[in-house]
Amino acid sequence: MADPTTTSVTFPTGATDGEATVLGTYVLPRGAGVVVDSTPFHPLDHTWPDQPGDTGTLVAGGVAYEVVDCVTGAIGPEGEFAAGAAIPVRRGDEAWRWLVVHLVDGEPPAPGRTVGLHVDRDRRAALSAAHTGCHLMALALNEALAGRWRKEVRVDGLGHPDFDGTAVQVSRIDAGTATDRYRIGRTLRRRFDTEGLREALPGLAFQVNERLAGWLARDAPVRIDAPGPDLTARRQWVCELPERTVRIPCGGTHLRRLGELTSLTVELMLSDDGSELVAVTTPQRS
Ligand SMILES: [Zn+2]
Repeated sequence: MADPTTTSVTFPTGATDGEATVLGTYVLPRGAGVVVDSTPFHPLDHTWPDQPGDTGTLVAGGVAYEVVDCVTGAIGPEGEFAAGAAIPVRRGDEAWRWLVVHLVDGEPPAPGRTVGLHVDRDRRAALSAAHTGCHLMALALNEALAGRWRKEVRVDGLGHPDFDGTAVQVSRIDAGTATDRYRIGRTLRRRFDTEGLREALPGLAFQVNERLAGWLARDAPVRIDAPGPDLTARRQWVCELPERTVRIPCGGTHLRRLGELTSLTVELMLSDDGSELVAVTTPQRS
């Protein structure tokens, strides 16, 4: 078997199709894992698993293989292979090589074969919309909550205290919505005023939605900046908002312009004990 090096990825530019050479195959609990030299498929990140892996098809010699999921794989210093949650180190650890693993059913195409790679475009577009929406919501939420900070805290790309970056515990993107869960624990409460937060939620959601609608109306361009083609390159989401161009570290896929959405709205909920704020962001595509 060829010794796979880090997979090159083309999804940051928005690509959904490609051609590549199979470098290796692995037996995994959920099927066969196919590794190629270059791919448009976005894999689930094992360290910050926000955007799910792409699905689609892989075509070799006229035979189509359904790609049922796509995960991150890694090969350690001793040549050991691990995938997804079984990877024992953090994303990008330099002693490991980082791979995109396409999960297929049945006998996978052999190493050395040329394969066509085709991502399910509709699902990708829906995930990209939700992911762009998730970043915008975070910026608008930071602004809406800015007056509640009692102490200096790091600021976001628009200069507002970064509630999202400080309190987010889990971010999950799916084909319809993005769900962000924020922990409002004792440490945060020392710096962040939660007085009347529950009663304020409808007003905060209104304020966030107004800001989101304003940004959509300006049709701001969105792109991913990448220092290189490697899966683990430190990529950034860049959005040219009217106020300022904003950058957020991000490994996912995105829209090209905010005008691709007809609406973007958030729903804010506070848990009964007040320790968790949940934001559900819903994009509508044109
Ligand atoms: Zn992101």
